Amino acid sequence: MKNKQEIVCSFCGRDKSQANVLIAGINGHICDQCIVQAQTIIGEEQDQKLKTTIGTPLTLPKPTEIKKFLDEYVIGQDHAKKVMSVAVYNHYKRLIHRSKAGKDDVELEKSNMIMVGETGTGKTLLARTIAKLLKVPFCIADATVLTEAGYVGEDVESVLTRLLQAADYDVATAERGIVYIDEIDKIARKGDNPSITRDVSGEGVQQGLLKMLESTIINVPPQGGRKHPEQKMIAVNTQNILFICGGAFDGINKIISRRLQTNAIGYAPKSDNEKVDRDNVMQYVSPADLKTFGLIPELIGRLPVITYLQPLDRETLRLILTEPKNALVRQYQKLFDMENIKLTFEDALLDFIVEKALEFKLGARGLRGICEAIMLDAMFELPGGKNPKEFEITLAYAKDKLTKSTINQLKVA
Ligand code: ADP
Repeated sequence: MKNKQEIVCSFCGRDKSQANVLIAGINGHICDQCIVQAQTIIGEEQDQKLKTTIGTPLTLPKPTEIKKFLDEYVIGQDHAKKVMSVAVYNHYKRLIHRSKAGKDDVELEKSNMIMVGETGTGKTLLARTIAKLLKVPFCIADATVLTEAGYVGEDVESVLTRLLQAADYDVATAERGIVYIDEIDKIARKGDNPSITRDVSGEGVQQGLLKMLESTIINVPPQGGRKHPEQKMIAVNTQNILFICGGAFDGINKIISRRLQTNAIGYAPKSDNEKVDRDNVMQYVSPADLKTFGLIPELIGRLPVITYLQPLDRETLRLILTEPKNALVRQYQKLFDMENIKLTFEDALLDFIVEKALEFKLGARGLRGICEAIMLDAMFELPGGKNPKEFEITLAYAKDKLTKSTINQLKVA
């Protein structure tokens, strides 16, 4: 009898007769009730951590609020912003739901995305801005440097190394981050016969990405680089990581047009709504087009949200120069402001920069290169030099600087 009383739960003091199970540890015991209670506490802790990282359900911005935030940084691209706002909202709703869901609740699927649009139209900017809003770690990976495991180049896992670095190696935070994979179109399968030679930078990489996009645990080398046996790996669960892929998919408009043409045979459009806007077929991009382009169906299946970005026209480029919160013009003004110089740009110059950017066919990315070429001398000479109170960049000044620069090499043939 005495012996029986000696074995008690070290947490609540219940003895063997009061507990169903008493599990022995090194210096004590724990009963089944205390285990259940401890588990509840751990669950609540994790819940709390989740909420503080991604915001409580009340502070997770609604899709309309997400779009409004995107509007401050990204000009135009309304459709992509809308699709993205919904996808991101649902993704984080799913996270919150998961932490509360019972066993037989509806399983919400992940909303990984793919964005199709010419270079410099704002794909990376959109992904980066979303991460900024949600305060989650964000990293950009370039699909072109990835190769199949064992070949020269980076293993697919290196993508997650970057995310871990962005999260300061806090695995739980990284597991709720956003990964942007750029140039996904460059790993399209080349040709229809993949078996003759190894396609190490194409289909092989797509297969590697597949695994990561799925909900799975991946062993990540903490410092990146090649895996070697002595290296200690960090296990990262990709279940709640949002993957956004982007690519220019050069030539996909022909694939879309061809599909639309074929579909049209034998069907007369029923109404004006069904008329195809031939000048902008990109808006009809579908999983079938991505497959024809060379992405494997399994990969497309794991990127259920597809959206497109419009090429930037003259007006949009002009707005990009001045309107976004961190517009180029504002950035230069801020830099000069820190030197106590009031910087202004002649209106005609801004139009000229837009013309040049259109000529270079680099989308909004060209704007920066052109501005840098124009501004270099001013940024070099003015600080600590003449130190004027005001400085106007005129069209004549800019033209002079551009003819002396190597900017024309930017031009895409
Ligand atoms: P990509 O589509 O090639 O990923 P990015 O998002 O990297 O293009 O855009 C390159 C640069 O051009 C960005 O740093 C951003 O400043 C600017 N930019 C591109 N599109 C837009 C846009 N729609 N609104 C505002 N800035 C833009």
